[in-house]
Amino acid sequence: MAKTKILVKGYAKEIDGEEHASSTATLIQENGLNIIVDPGMDRKALLEGMSKEGLATGDINFVVLTHTHLDHCLLAGIFENAKVLDNSDIFSFDGRIGEHDGRIPGTDIEIVGTPGHDQFHCSVLANTEDLGKVVIAGDIFWWSDDEEQKTDRESLINHEDPYVKDEEALKESRNKILDIADYIIPGHGEMFKVKK
Ligand SMILES: [Zn+2]
Repeated sequence: MAKTKILVKGYAKEIDGEEHASSTATLIQENGLNIIVDPGMDRKALLEGMSKEGLATGDINFVVLTHTHLDHCLLAGIFENAKVLDNSDIFSFDGRIGEHDGRIPGTDIEIVGTPGHDQFHCSVLANTEDLGKVVIAGDIFWWSDDEEQKTDRESLINHEDPYVKDEEALKESRNKILDIADYIIPGHGEMFKVKK
């Protein structure tokens, strides 16, 4: 069973006419492995969140990127001992690229394709004792700080994504994740419980 912990709550806001954003950074621990989904781009916030959990950059075994927008992946290179996974591949800092089989190696944590926001977008599914099935959904679901976060199913399915690449695929991915998840951790915004 996995344990999840939000290290940085993702945000997207304007300060004095300047854009500020960083994705939610989530720690998953399973079988003694430390995994970060979407390290984001706010280095100070990430390092603070990690140090509260007693973790240094060298303690991270895997980094999973839901997609390669820089507000989610700018910090992927700071974990000296990690391997980095995207929707299909595993990247090592010695230049090697391998494939994964839809799971983070050595765990039961699944990597599920969820295209729409981005063609290669994926989400991460962890089975936890306290929250049930937690999906770290990247930008399948996200809100800017000035938006109300409505979590009834219809609002979630139809919520406008100004950066969407394929609207039909996004709706399909949202439906798929809402069917699976007990809790969803969005790319920017608060974790929410799925109403069944
Ligand atoms: Zn984002």
